[in-house]
Amino acid sequence: MARFAVGLVAPLSLALGATAAGAADYPERQITMIVPFAAGGPTDVVARIVAGHMSQTLGQTIVIENVVGAGGTTGSTRAARAAPDGYTLITGHMGTHAAAVPLYPKLAYNPQTDFEPVALLAGTPILILARKDFPAENLQQFIANVKANTDKLNMAHAGVGSVSYSACELFNSVIGVKPIGVPFNGTGPAMNALVAQQVDYMCDQIVNAVPQIKGGTIRAYAVATPTRNASLPDVPTTKQAGLPAYQASAWNAIFAPKGTPVAILDKLNAAAAKALDDENVRKRLLDLGSDVPPPEGRTRDSLRELVKSEVAKWSAVLKPAQ
Ligand code: ASP
Repeated sequence: MARFAVGLVAPLSLALGATAAGAADYPERQITMIVPFAAGGPTDVVARIVAGHMSQTLGQTIVIENVVGAGGTTGSTRAARAAPDGYTLITGHMGTHAAAVPLYPKLAYNPQTDFEPVALLAGTPILILARKDFPAENLQQFIANVKANTDKLNMAHAGVGSVSYSACELFNSVIGVKPIGVPFNGTGPAMNALVAQQVDYMCDQIVNAVPQIKGGTIRAYAVATPTRNASLPDVPTTKQAGLPAYQASAWNAIFAPKGTPVAILDKLNAAAAKALDDENVRKRLLDLGSDVPPPEGRTRDSLRELVKSEVAKWSAVLKPAQ
């Protein structure tokens, strides 16, 4: 019995020692950042901008791995099940870590209990967008057209649970339509389809849309925030355009699997905060229309609170997908 007890204790203390040393020396090798959507979409763009700077601070490469499917829940499930050692992280968002909860009653992870919040990276206002030849000059005409032609129009989105899906569900319910949804693996490819005029409209995060709107390849009818966006001064707010009830803004944030050592989480949070203070990183995020969180919005606790309130907010608005 005594020998058995000794045998049990020794590996345990070795394991604890290894964890503490691991946190102090972290990171000792390449880190994988899962992006649960296709390359070129808003989450991918935000993750690459910030992770590029974080890898300089941490002294290790952060490799972006696009793990697509099921509105971002496939990649999020993989991240939730990864070893909690700081070498697998995820850039999730308002969809994967909030709106997916009411939409998938059997979601394989709980955003609040299966993840450790690491850092909020960017707020991303929602825009109402359409193909460039959509026959409507403003939001009121667009709404009238969508109401009159609902069964002929295709609404692009990035899968049930994504931001674009949830944001357009809200828009559709505010104006009282149920259009045909066309899912993509991210709004990167959905945007390509909108530019190619293969789909009719989309409610996307601003990051993806600013270059296209400026280039005249798509139409933007309104931004669903209380104020106009500095990167798109000509695009009215939904309130100015006559649809004040439609307000939607998303966010993107880094999470780690539950049980990742706090010392590692703190190191990652500090590296993310440093990235957000970098002039070049800030400029790139702001030029794409996103909001850079202020210092008080960058703590791990504030991200924990954000996820909690967003799960509650979207659970009150969305019903399980059929
Ligand atoms: N954020 C997703 C992407 O990067 C799209 C979405 O959630 O709608 O493609």
